[in-house]
Amino acid sequence: MATMTLEQEINPWEAQAARFDFAARKLNLDEGLWKVLRYPSREIIVHFPIMMDDGRVEVFTGFRVQHSIARGPSKGGIRYSPDVTLDEIRALASWMTWKCAVVNIPFGGAKGGVICDPKKMSQGELERMTRRYTSELIEFLGPEKDVPAPDMNTNEQTMAWIMDTYSMHMRQTVTSVVTGKPLSIGGSRGRREATGRGIGVVCDEALKYLHLPREGCRVIIQGFGNVGSNAAKLMAEKGYKIVGIAEYDGGLYNPHGIDIGMLMEYRRSNASVVGFKGAEPFDSPELVIAECDIFIPAATENVITSRNADRIKARIVCEGANGPTTAVADDILADKEIFVIPDILANAGGVTASYFEWVQDRQGYFWKEALINEQLESILVESFDDVVRYSVAHGVNNRIAAYMLAIDRVASTIKQRGIYA
Ligand code: GLU
Repeated sequence: MATMTLEQEINPWEAQAARFDFAARKLNLDEGLWKVLRYPSREIIVHFPIMMDDGRVEVFTGFRVQHSIARGPSKGGIRYSPDVTLDEIRALASWMTWKCAVVNIPFGGAKGGVICDPKKMSQGELERMTRRYTSELIEFLGPEKDVPAPDMNTNEQTMAWIMDTYSMHMRQTVTSVVTGKPLSIGGSRGRREATGRGIGVVCDEALKYLHLPREGCRVIIQGFGNVGSNAAKLMAEKGYKIVGIAEYDGGLYNPHGIDIGMLMEYRRSNASVVGFKGAEPFDSPELVIAECDIFIPAATENVITSRNADRIKARIVCEGANGPTTAVADDILADKEIFVIPDILANAGGVTASYFEWVQDRQGYFWKEALINEQLESILVESFDDVVRYSVAHGVNNRIAAYMLAIDRVASTIKQRGIYA
Protein backbone atom coordinates (compact mmCIF):
# COMPACT_ATOMS: atom_id res chain seq x y z
CA MET A 1 0.00 0.00 0.00
CA ALA A 2 2.99 2.28 0.53
CA THR A 3 3.43 2.81 -3.22
CA MET A 4 -0.21 3.76 -3.75
CA THR A 5 -0.86 7.18 -5.30
CA LEU A 6 -3.29 9.55 -3.59
CA GLU A 7 -5.64 9.11 -6.55
CA GLN A 8 -5.75 5.33 -5.98
CA GLU A 9 -6.05 5.82 -2.24
CA ILE A 10 -9.16 7.99 -2.58
CA ASN A 11 -10.92 5.85 -5.19
CA PRO A 12 -13.88 4.47 -3.16
CA TRP A 13 -13.98 1.27 -5.19
CA GLU A 14 -10.30 0.58 -4.40
CA ALA A 15 -11.02 1.40 -0.75
CA GLN A 16 -13.88 -1.10 -0.65
CA ALA A 17 -11.97 -3.78 -2.56
CA ALA A 18 -8.90 -3.50 -0.29
CA ARG A 19 -10.99 -4.15 2.84
CA PHE A 20 -13.03 -6.86 1.11
CA ASP A 21 -9.91 -8.75 -0.01
CA PHE A 22 -8.32 -8.47 3.42
CA ALA A 23 -11.45 -9.68 5.22
CA ALA A 24 -12.08 -12.46 2.70
CA ARG A 25 -8.52 -13.72 3.17
CA LYS A 26 -8.93 -13.68 6.95
CA LEU A 27 -12.17 -15.64 6.57
CA ASN A 28 -10.53 -18.16 4.27
CA LEU A 29 -13.37 -17.47 1.89
CA ASP A 30 -13.92 -20.02 -0.85
CA GLU A 31 -12.34 -18.72 -4.08
CA GLY A 32 -15.55 -18.98 -6.11
CA LEU A 33 -17.59 -17.05 -3.54
CA TRP A 34 -14.78 -14.52 -3.38
CA LYS A 35 -15.21 -13.87 -7.11
CA VAL A 36 -19.00 -13.71 -6.82
CA LEU A 37 -18.91 -11.11 -4.05
CA ARG A 38 -16.01 -9.01 -5.22
CA TYR A 39 -17.95 -7.45 -8.12
CA PRO A 40 -21.48 -6.06 -8.42
CA SER A 41 -23.99 -8.34 -10.10
CA ARG A 42 -25.55 -5.63 -12.26
CA GLU A 43 -24.50 -2.12 -13.36
CA ILE A 44 -26.92 0.07 -15.27
CA ILE A 45 -25.83 3.30 -16.98
CA VAL A 46 -28.46 5.59 -18.50
CA HIS A 47 -28.11 8.79 -20.51
CA PHE A 48 -31.40 10.64 -20.71
CA PRO A 49 -32.65 14.02 -21.89
CA ILE A 50 -34.42 16.63 -19.76
CA MET A 51 -36.09 19.82 -20.88
CA MET A 52 -34.56 22.60 -18.77
CA ASP A 53 -36.57 25.63 -17.64
CA ASP A 54 -35.06 27.84 -20.37
CA GLY A 55 -36.15 25.45 -23.12
CA ARG A 56 -32.72 23.85 -23.63
CA VAL A 57 -32.45 20.06 -23.74
CA GLU A 58 -29.79 18.71 -21.38
CA VAL A 59 -28.58 15.09 -21.25
CA PHE A 60 -27.84 13.59 -17.82
CA THR A 61 -25.96 10.42 -16.93
CA GLY A 62 -27.32 8.19 -14.18
CA PHE A 63 -26.21 4.94 -12.63
CA ARG A 64 -27.81 2.17 -10.62
CA VAL A 65 -25.53 -0.58 -9.39
CA GLN A 66 -26.98 -3.70 -7.77
CA HIS A 67 -24.19 -5.44 -5.95
CA SER A 68 -26.04 -8.42 -4.48
CA ILE A 69 -29.56 -9.79 -4.14
CA ALA A 70 -28.48 -12.92 -2.27
CA ARG A 71 -30.24 -12.02 1.00
CA GLY A 72 -33.23 -10.15 -0.44
CA PRO A 73 -34.10 -7.23 -2.73
CA SER A 74 -31.21 -4.85 -3.26
CA LYS A 75 -31.42 -1.72 -1.13
CA GLY A 76 -29.66 1.61 -1.16
CA GLY A 77 -29.87 5.32 -1.75
CA ILE A 78 -29.70 7.58 -4.77
CA ARG A 79 -27.36 10.57 -4.76
CA TYR A 80 -27.26 13.68 -6.92
CA SER A 81 -23.87 15.30 -7.26
CA PRO A 82 -21.52 16.65 -9.95
CA ASP A 83 -18.82 14.28 -8.63
CA VAL A 84 -20.76 11.01 -8.99
CA THR A 85 -18.74 8.29 -10.77
CA LEU A 86 -19.47 4.67 -11.58
CA ASP A 87 -16.63 3.54 -9.30
CA GLU A 88 -18.13 5.52 -6.42
CA ILE A 89 -21.60 4.04 -6.96
CA ARG A 90 -20.07 0.54 -7.22
CA ALA A 91 -18.34 0.99 -3.89
CA LEU A 92 -21.46 2.41 -2.25
CA ALA A 93 -23.56 -0.48 -3.61
CA SER A 94 -21.26 -3.08 -2.10
CA TRP A 95 -21.14 -1.17 1.18
CA MET A 96 -24.94 -1.45 1.23
CA THR A 97 -24.67 -5.25 0.90
CA TRP A 98 -22.25 -5.37 3.82
CA LYS A 99 -24.25 -2.85 5.87
CA CYS A 100 -27.54 -4.76 5.52
CA ALA A 101 -25.73 -7.97 6.46
CA VAL A 102 -24.05 -6.39 9.51
CA VAL A 103 -27.44 -5.40 10.93
CA ASN A 104 -28.90 -8.67 9.64
CA ILE A 105 -31.84 -7.28 7.67
CA PRO A 106 -33.13 -9.17 4.62
CA PHE A 107 -31.72 -7.00 1.86
CA GLY A 108 -28.90 -7.02 -0.63
CA GLY A 109 -27.08 -3.86 -1.65
CA ALA A 110 -27.48 -1.25 -4.37
CA LYS A 111 -26.79 2.41 -5.00
CA GLY A 112 -27.75 4.95 -7.61
CA GLY A 113 -26.61 8.37 -8.66
CA VAL A 114 -27.06 11.05 -11.27
CA ILE A 115 -24.26 13.39 -12.33
CA CYS A 116 -25.82 16.81 -11.85
CA ASP A 117 -25.50 19.93 -9.74
CA PRO A 118 -28.75 20.02 -7.76
CA LYS A 119 -27.84 23.42 -6.24
CA LYS A 120 -28.08 24.94 -9.72
CA MET A 121 -31.35 23.24 -10.67
CA SER A 122 -34.94 24.37 -10.11
CA GLN A 123 -37.50 22.15 -8.37
CA GLY A 124 -39.16 21.57 -11.75
CA GLU A 125 -35.88 20.44 -13.33
CA LEU A 126 -35.13 18.16 -10.37
CA GLU A 127 -38.59 16.64 -10.58
CA ARG A 128 -38.33 15.98 -14.34
CA MET A 129 -34.84 14.52 -13.92
CA THR A 130 -35.96 12.25 -11.06
CA ARG A 131 -39.01 11.00 -12.95
CA ARG A 132 -37.12 10.31 -16.16
CA TYR A 133 -34.27 8.57 -14.30
CA THR A 134 -36.88 6.41 -12.54
CA SER A 135 -38.61 5.52 -15.79
CA GLU A 136 -35.26 4.59 -17.38
CA LEU A 137 -34.79 2.06 -14.55
CA ILE A 138 -38.40 0.95 -14.35
CA GLU A 139 -37.92 -2.77 -14.97
CA PHE A 140 -35.04 -2.98 -12.50
CA LEU A 141 -36.86 -1.43 -9.52
CA GLY A 142 -39.63 -2.86 -7.34
CA PRO A 143 -40.46 -3.80 -3.75
CA GLU A 144 -39.13 -7.32 -4.37
CA LYS A 145 -36.31 -6.25 -6.71
CA ASP A 146 -34.52 -3.07 -5.75
CA VAL A 147 -35.69 -0.43 -3.27
CA PRO A 148 -34.07 3.04 -3.43
CA ALA A 149 -33.87 5.59 -0.60
CA PRO A 150 -32.47 9.09 -0.06
CA ASP A 151 -28.74 9.75 -0.01
CA MET A 152 -26.62 12.84 -0.66
CA ASN A 153 -28.76 15.72 -2.06
CA THR A 154 -31.94 13.66 -2.31
CA ASN A 155 -34.79 13.75 0.20
CA GLU A 156 -38.40 12.83 0.98
CA GLN A 157 -39.65 14.84 -1.98
CA THR A 158 -37.33 12.97 -4.35
CA MET A 159 -38.67 9.66 -2.98
CA ALA A 160 -42.26 10.85 -3.45
CA TRP A 161 -41.55 11.54 -7.15
CA ILE A 162 -39.93 8.12 -7.59
CA MET A 163 -42.85 6.41 -5.86
CA ASP A 164 -45.35 8.30 -8.02
CA THR A 165 -43.49 7.63 -11.30
CA TYR A 166 -43.13 3.92 -10.52
CA SER A 167 -46.81 3.74 -9.49
CA MET A 168 -47.96 5.46 -12.71
CA HIS A 169 -46.10 2.84 -14.75
CA MET A 170 -47.57 0.01 -12.65
CA ARG A 171 -51.09 1.52 -12.81
CA GLN A 172 -51.40 1.17 -9.04
CA THR A 173 -49.93 2.84 -5.97
CA VAL A 174 -46.83 0.95 -4.84
CA THR A 175 -45.54 2.65 -1.70
CA SER A 176 -42.95 0.00 -0.85
CA VAL A 177 -40.84 0.67 -3.96
CA VAL A 178 -38.84 3.34 -2.10
CA THR A 179 -38.15 4.24 1.52
CA GLY A 180 -37.53 7.59 3.11
CA LYS A 181 -40.87 8.88 1.81
CA PRO A 182 -43.00 11.61 3.39
CA LEU A 183 -45.18 10.29 6.24
CA SER A 184 -48.39 11.01 4.32
CA ILE A 185 -47.57 8.54 1.54
CA GLY A 186 -46.24 5.54 3.43
CA GLY A 187 -43.14 6.97 5.08
CA SER A 188 -42.14 5.74 8.50
CA ARG A 189 -42.03 7.65 11.73
CA GLY A 190 -38.44 8.08 12.83
CA ARG A 191 -36.89 7.42 9.39
CA ARG A 192 -35.64 10.98 8.92
CA GLU A 193 -33.71 10.98 12.21
CA ALA A 194 -32.76 7.28 12.08
CA THR A 195 -29.19 7.55 10.80
CA GLY A 196 -28.36 10.26 13.34
CA ARG A 197 -30.12 8.32 16.10
CA GLY A 198 -28.13 5.21 15.25
CA ILE A 199 -24.89 7.15 15.49
CA GLY A 200 -25.83 8.20 19.02
CA VAL A 201 -26.59 4.58 19.92
CA VAL A 202 -23.27 3.17 18.69
CA CYS A 203 -21.36 6.04 20.34
CA ASP A 204 -23.08 5.14 23.65
CA GLU A 205 -22.02 1.53 23.18
CA ALA A 206 -18.43 2.50 22.33
CA LEU A 207 -18.17 4.66 25.46
CA LYS A 208 -19.51 1.83 27.61
CA TYR A 209 -17.07 -0.59 25.98
CA LEU A 210 -14.14 1.75 26.59
CA HIS A 211 -15.36 2.70 30.10
CA LEU A 212 -15.58 6.39 29.23
CA PRO A 213 -18.26 8.77 30.57
CA ARG A 214 -20.95 10.20 28.30
CA GLU A 215 -21.61 13.36 30.26
CA GLY A 216 -19.47 16.13 28.82
CA CYS A 217 -17.96 13.88 26.14
CA ARG A 218 -16.62 16.31 23.49
CA VAL A 219 -17.84 15.68 19.95
CA ILE A 220 -16.88 17.25 16.62
CA ILE A 221 -19.14 16.58 13.65
CA GLN A 222 -18.14 17.14 10.06
CA GLY A 223 -21.28 17.77 7.97
CA PHE A 224 -24.56 19.25 9.14
CA GLY A 225 -26.90 17.62 6.65
CA ASN A 226 -29.57 15.09 7.59
CA VAL A 227 -27.10 12.74 9.28
CA GLY A 228 -24.84 15.26 11.03
CA SER A 229 -27.58 17.59 12.26
CA ASN A 230 -29.77 14.82 13.67
CA ALA A 231 -26.79 13.11 15.31
CA ALA A 232 -25.82 16.46 16.86
CA LYS A 233 -29.33 17.16 18.14
CA LEU A 234 -30.00 13.72 19.59
CA MET A 235 -26.54 13.38 21.10
CA ALA A 236 -26.67 16.85 22.68
CA GLU A 237 -30.00 15.83 24.29
CA LYS A 238 -28.27 12.81 25.82
CA GLY A 239 -25.50 14.88 27.44
CA TYR A 240 -22.77 14.88 24.81
CA LYS A 241 -21.06 18.23 24.30
CA ILE A 242 -21.00 19.14 20.60
CA VAL A 243 -17.94 21.41 20.51
CA GLY A 244 -17.41 21.64 16.76
CA ILE A 245 -19.36 21.57 13.51
CA ALA A 246 -17.43 21.54 10.22
CA GLU A 247 -19.33 22.39 7.04
CA TYR A 248 -18.08 22.74 3.46
CA ASP A 249 -18.36 26.55 3.65
CA GLY A 250 -16.92 27.02 7.14
CA GLY A 251 -16.82 25.63 10.66
CA LEU A 252 -17.82 26.51 14.21
CA TYR A 253 -16.15 25.81 17.53
CA ASN A 254 -17.30 26.35 21.10
CA PRO A 255 -15.47 24.50 23.91
CA HIS A 256 -18.55 24.87 26.15
CA GLY A 257 -20.81 23.16 23.63
CA ILE A 258 -22.85 24.54 20.72
CA ASP A 259 -26.60 24.99 21.22
CA ILE A 260 -27.72 22.65 18.43
CA GLY A 261 -31.40 23.68 18.55
CA MET A 262 -30.41 27.29 17.95
CA LEU A 263 -27.93 26.31 15.24
CA MET A 264 -30.60 24.33 13.39
CA GLU A 265 -32.89 27.33 13.62
CA TYR A 266 -30.11 29.61 12.33
CA ARG A 267 -29.33 27.26 9.44
CA ARG A 268 -33.00 27.10 8.45
CA SER A 269 -33.14 30.86 7.98
CA ASN A 270 -29.61 31.42 6.63
CA ALA A 271 -29.04 28.26 4.56
CA SER A 272 -25.58 27.96 6.21
CA VAL A 273 -24.05 27.56 9.66
CA VAL A 274 -21.55 30.32 8.89
CA GLY A 275 -22.13 33.49 10.90
CA PHE A 276 -23.83 31.70 13.83
CA LYS A 277 -23.14 33.75 16.94
CA GLY A 278 -23.15 30.89 19.46
CA ALA A 279 -19.65 29.71 18.48
CA GLU A 280 -16.35 30.96 17.07
CA PRO A 281 -15.71 30.61 13.33
CA PHE A 282 -13.17 27.82 12.72
CA ASP A 283 -11.43 26.40 9.69
CA SER A 284 -13.24 23.18 8.69
CA PRO A 285 -10.19 21.02 7.80
CA GLU A 286 -8.66 22.07 11.14
CA LEU A 287 -11.74 20.81 12.98
CA VAL A 288 -11.16 17.31 11.56
CA ILE A 289 -7.88 17.16 13.47
CA ALA A 290 -8.91 19.20 16.52
CA GLU A 291 -8.88 17.94 20.10
CA CYS A 292 -12.08 16.00 21.01
CA ASP A 293 -13.30 12.64 22.32
CA ILE A 294 -15.44 11.61 19.35
CA PHE A 295 -15.01 12.73 15.76
CA ILE A 296 -17.98 12.04 13.46
CA PRO A 297 -17.35 12.47 9.74
CA ALA A 298 -20.92 12.77 8.44
CA ALA A 299 -20.49 14.35 5.03
CA THR A 300 -18.67 12.51 2.30
CA GLU A 301 -15.87 10.12 1.33
CA ASN A 302 -12.12 10.58 1.88
CA VAL A 303 -12.09 12.92 4.85
CA ILE A 304 -9.50 10.90 6.77
CA THR A 305 -6.62 10.01 4.43
CA SER A 306 -2.87 9.39 4.63
CA ARG A 307 -2.53 13.20 4.61
CA ASN A 308 -4.20 13.86 7.97
CA ALA A 309 -4.83 10.53 9.76
CA ASP A 310 -1.70 10.86 11.92
CA ARG A 311 -3.01 14.18 13.28
CA ILE A 312 -6.49 12.96 14.30
CA LYS A 313 -6.79 13.50 18.06
CA ALA A 314 -10.16 11.89 18.78
CA ARG A 315 -10.34 8.74 20.89
CA ILE A 316 -13.27 7.46 18.81
CA VAL A 317 -14.06 7.98 15.13
CA CYS A 318 -17.70 7.20 14.33
CA GLU A 319 -18.36 7.16 10.59
CA GLY A 320 -21.70 8.80 9.79
CA ALA A 321 -20.80 9.09 6.10
CA ASN A 322 -20.03 6.19 3.79
CA GLY A 323 -16.33 5.74 3.11
CA PRO A 324 -14.93 8.75 5.00
CA THR A 325 -11.67 6.90 5.83
CA THR A 326 -9.31 5.45 3.24
CA ALA A 327 -7.77 2.00 3.64
CA VAL A 328 -4.30 3.53 4.16
CA ALA A 329 -5.68 5.80 6.88
CA ASP A 330 -7.22 2.75 8.62
CA ASP A 331 -3.74 1.47 9.41
CA ILE A 332 -2.63 4.85 10.74
CA LEU A 333 -5.70 5.13 13.00
CA ALA A 334 -5.09 1.56 14.22
CA ASP A 335 -1.48 2.42 15.13
CA LYS A 336 -2.80 5.34 17.14
CA GLU A 337 -5.28 2.98 18.86
CA ILE A 338 -8.22 5.09 17.80
CA PHE A 339 -11.48 3.17 18.21
CA VAL A 340 -13.22 3.29 14.82
CA ILE A 341 -16.93 2.55 14.48
CA PRO A 342 -16.99 1.72 10.77
CA ASP A 343 -19.56 3.20 8.39
CA ILE A 344 -21.27 -0.12 7.63
CA LEU A 345 -22.18 -0.32 11.32
CA ALA A 346 -22.23 3.34 12.43
CA ASN A 347 -24.63 4.68 9.81
CA ALA A 348 -26.76 1.54 9.46
CA GLY A 349 -29.61 3.14 11.44
CA GLY A 350 -30.88 4.70 8.21
CA VAL A 351 -31.31 1.49 6.27
CA THR A 352 -32.62 -0.28 9.37
CA ALA A 353 -35.47 2.24 9.63
CA SER A 354 -35.91 1.86 5.86
CA TYR A 355 -36.45 -1.83 6.49
CA PHE A 356 -39.17 -0.95 9.03
CA GLU A 357 -40.75 1.38 6.45
CA TRP A 358 -40.75 -1.35 3.78
CA VAL A 359 -42.33 -3.82 6.23
CA GLN A 360 -45.01 -1.29 7.28
CA ASP A 361 -45.84 -0.42 3.65
CA ARG A 362 -46.23 -4.08 2.76
CA GLN A 363 -48.40 -4.70 5.82
CA GLY A 364 -50.35 -1.46 5.42
CA TYR A 365 -49.99 -1.05 9.17
CA PHE A 366 -47.95 1.75 10.69
CA TRP A 367 -46.01 1.61 13.91
CA LYS A 368 -45.71 4.21 16.68
CA GLU A 369 -42.42 6.11 16.79
CA ALA A 370 -41.49 4.66 20.18
CA LEU A 371 -41.59 1.15 18.71
CA ILE A 372 -39.45 2.18 15.71
CA ASN A 373 -36.83 3.75 17.98
CA GLU A 374 -36.81 0.82 20.37
CA GLN A 375 -36.36 -1.75 17.56
CA LEU A 376 -33.71 0.41 15.92
CA GLU A 377 -31.76 0.68 19.14
CA SER A 378 -31.96 -3.03 19.86
CA ILE A 379 -30.70 -3.96 16.35
CA LEU A 380 -27.80 -1.52 16.56
CA VAL A 381 -26.76 -2.55 20.07
CA GLU A 382 -26.75 -6.19 19.01
CA SER A 383 -24.80 -5.42 15.82
CA PHE A 384 -22.24 -3.37 17.74
CA ASP A 385 -21.73 -6.31 20.11
CA ASP A 386 -21.42 -8.74 17.18
CA VAL A 387 -18.76 -6.60 15.50
CA VAL A 388 -16.72 -6.03 18.65
CA ARG A 389 -16.91 -9.71 19.55
CA TYR A 390 -15.74 -10.65 16.04
CA SER A 391 -12.91 -8.16 16.28
CA VAL A 392 -11.66 -9.62 19.56
CA ALA A 393 -12.11 -13.23 18.43
CA HIS A 394 -10.21 -12.73 15.16
CA GLY A 395 -7.70 -10.12 16.32
CA VAL A 396 -8.72 -7.58 13.68
CA ASN A 397 -9.90 -3.97 13.81
CA ASN A 398 -13.62 -3.13 13.94
CA ARG A 399 -13.88 -2.41 10.23
CA ILE A 400 -12.39 -5.71 9.15
CA ALA A 401 -14.53 -7.45 11.78
CA ALA A 402 -17.66 -5.84 10.31
CA TYR A 403 -16.66 -6.88 6.79
CA MET A 404 -15.90 -10.43 7.95
CA LEU A 405 -19.23 -10.72 9.74
CA ALA A 406 -21.07 -9.40 6.68
CA ILE A 407 -19.17 -11.43 4.08
CA ASP A 408 -19.68 -14.57 6.14
CA ARG A 409 -23.45 -13.97 6.31
CA VAL A 410 -23.80 -13.22 2.58
CA ALA A 411 -21.49 -16.05 1.52
CA SER A 412 -23.35 -18.64 3.57
CA THR A 413 -26.65 -17.55 1.96
CA ILE A 414 -25.16 -18.01 -1.50
CA LYS A 415 -23.79 -21.40 -0.53
CA GLN A 416 -27.19 -22.45 0.73
CA ARG A 417 -29.03 -21.16 -2.34
CA GLY A 418 -26.45 -22.68 -4.69
CA ILE A 419 -25.23 -21.41 -8.04
CA TYR A 420 -27.98 -21.52 -10.68
CA ALA A 421 -27.19 -23.39 -13.90
N1 GLU B 1 -28.45 6.18 1.79
C1 GLU B 1 -28.49 5.56 3.07
C2 GLU B 1 -27.25 4.73 3.31
O1 GLU B 1 -26.23 4.93 2.71
C3 GLU B 1 -29.79 4.83 3.30
C4 GLU B 1 -30.04 3.65 2.44
C5 GLU B 1 -31.44 3.06 2.60
O2 GLU B 1 -32.15 3.45 3.51
O3 GLU B 1 -31.77 2.22 1.77
O4 GLU B 1 -27.24 3.90 4.17
